[in-house]
Amino acid sequence: MNVEQVYKDANALLEGHFLLASGNHSARYLQSAKVLEYPKKAAELTDALAKMIRNYGIEVDTVCAPALGGVLAGYELARSLDVRSIFVEKKEGGMELRRGFEIKKGEKIIICEDIITTGGSALKAAQAIEALGGEVVAFASLANRGFCKRVGGDNDVKPACKLPNDIPLFSLDDFTFEMYRPEECPLCKGGSTAIKPGSKS
Ligand code: ZN
Repeated sequence: MNVEQVYKDANALLEGHFLLASGNHSARYLQSAKVLEYPKKAAELTDALAKMIRNYGIEVDTVCAPALGGVLAGYELARSLDVRSIFVEKKEGGMELRRGFEIKKGEKIIICEDIITTGGSALKAAQAIEALGGEVVAFASLANRGFCKRVGGDNDVKPACKLPNDIPLFSLDDFTFEMYRPEECPLCKGGSTAIKPGSKS
């Protein structure tokens, strides 16, 4: 599967001049919500992800996503793996399980995101699950921004990656974009203005 083409076809791989959450600028931006707009397409992506996870040979009881960004990908991955789907939600300083969701001691859980950038939300989700006695057996995402190392990927892990390196990360592809500090941004020097994509615009 050509994952980059799937993102392009869904207008989920934006090209332009973007202000990222980190404050840096970039000429490309991944809007994974767009690639999940069509459930059949989403299912193709998570079927491919589920295949990677099964081939690796780990046992999974449940998929847990950090809300809001990971919920659709997590739900579809759970369907592809034929396991249960739950999500955790933001609280002060971390994430927590709400809405009557429960996990058993030793339950084998995959934390699933739409995109792993540095993995901060995924790590907080994992901490919430482990605090309740669950076992985090893997991380998964549709796209990996190249800070963390995915199983089978060519990139080395970068210092910014927050995920533990003893737990595998499964992603369909690496999307490593050039990022610029605003004062060094060639797009700014070209006279254009960075716009803020994503959930806050
Ligand atoms: Zn710029």
